[in-house]
Amino acid sequence: MQPAPIDHGIKFKRKDLQEEPTIDTKIDNLKTVERATTIGEGSVRVHTVEHVLAALSAMGVDNAIVEMDANEPPIGDGSASAYVELIKRAGVVAQEASRRFFDAREPMHVESKAGSLLVLLPDDKFRISCTQAGPENRFTQFLSTEVTPAVFEREIAPARTFVYYEDVQPLIDKNLIKGGSLENAIVVRGESVLSKEPLRFRDEFVRHKMLDIIGDLALLGCRVRGHIVAVKPGHSTNAELVRAIAREQARSMAVAIKQPTLRGEGGLDTDELMQILPHRYPFLMVDRIISFEGDNKITGVKSVTINEPFFQGHFPGHPVMPGVLQVEAMAQVACILLFRLSKTSGRLGYFMSADQVKFRKPVLPGDTLFIHAELTKARGNRLARANCHCVVNDSVVSEGELMFAFLDK
Ligand SMILES: [Zn+2]
Repeated sequence: MQPAPIDHGIKFKRKDLQEEPTIDTKIDNLKTVERATTIGEGSVRVHTVEHVLAALSAMGVDNAIVEMDANEPPIGDGSASAYVELIKRAGVVAQEASRRFFDAREPMHVESKAGSLLVLLPDDKFRISCTQAGPENRFTQFLSTEVTPAVFEREIAPARTFVYYEDVQPLIDKNLIKGGSLENAIVVRGESVLSKEPLRFRDEFVRHKMLDIIGDLALLGCRVRGHIVAVKPGHSTNAELVRAIAREQARSMAVAIKQPTLRGEGGLDTDELMQILPHRYPFLMVDRIISFEGDNKITGVKSVTINEPFFQGHFPGHPVMPGVLQVEAMAQVACILLFRLSKTSGRLGYFMSADQVKFRKPVLPGDTLFIHAELTKARGNRLARANCHCVVNDSVVSEGELMFAFLDK
């Protein structure tokens, strides 16, 4: 396992093949879910990824390269403990980016004809409540817990793979399972449990089912905040849930427009800001102030519509908001902050200079412009400097350092 940069995700690298191809951990790369989870790209495969993925995900690793010299990670004793040990020995470091989460907003569920059911419920933590049941409901077990690194290491990672004798007998007969299988799985035959080492938990089976859920969920590529209620889960329903979440995520991203609502007491509506700014149509470049943060930060909003007068000429058939008007918007928002600080409206703020101005992306009709200004320097009552930037859909579209002077009206 090798470290990897921000936004890399978990990738498997087949060092044993020519050109050392890598396979991204993502649901689109899922190939088969028979007994274990196999991912692949082109003709390259990696089998049984779920235990490594469970260990990485539950121990807090978002970015890593898993180098392989075979098409399957070592199964070991059938648990994830060996991988947890490796991760703990190497250590986990925080990177300079915030984690991406899928937050369940409303209940979702998937089920199979075989009676497997997974429900995802909103929750501010990642929890799993799991019921496992064997043939004729033998070995029915239940466990519910929040999944944290400590809980995973102690309660879930040591739980080993188990198989039912009737499922593996045909494979043993065909010689598809080689000897020594008791070393890397528990075999359940009728009422009896065959394993080299005694059960590690009275309810080891349900714990292993949870381990597999955590591993398969890593195919989402981000973390889930929610409560998974699982009844007789298996790799195929786990994968179905990941697909359902991925679809939901795509849908919510398509409609996720931040609503310019007033936050706390800090905001100003159009009327209030026009009492501070002398600007009027068509030159008022801010609709609302949505927040003040501390003494030196402010955020304003402008909805940019096709009805803006400047779009008629800038440019016919190709409307783009002029960059200089974005600078004007920054200046107006910064001025509101300055006036609020000096508590006077008997003076006008004059825009003196603009440095480091960059226009990064075009602003188009339909965009919502979030205008941020941060006061960096105020000299006496006469001069002020502000760092400003405009954001559309979470990307900076323009930025600049503005300087103001104040004069009496
Ligand atoms: Zn497993």
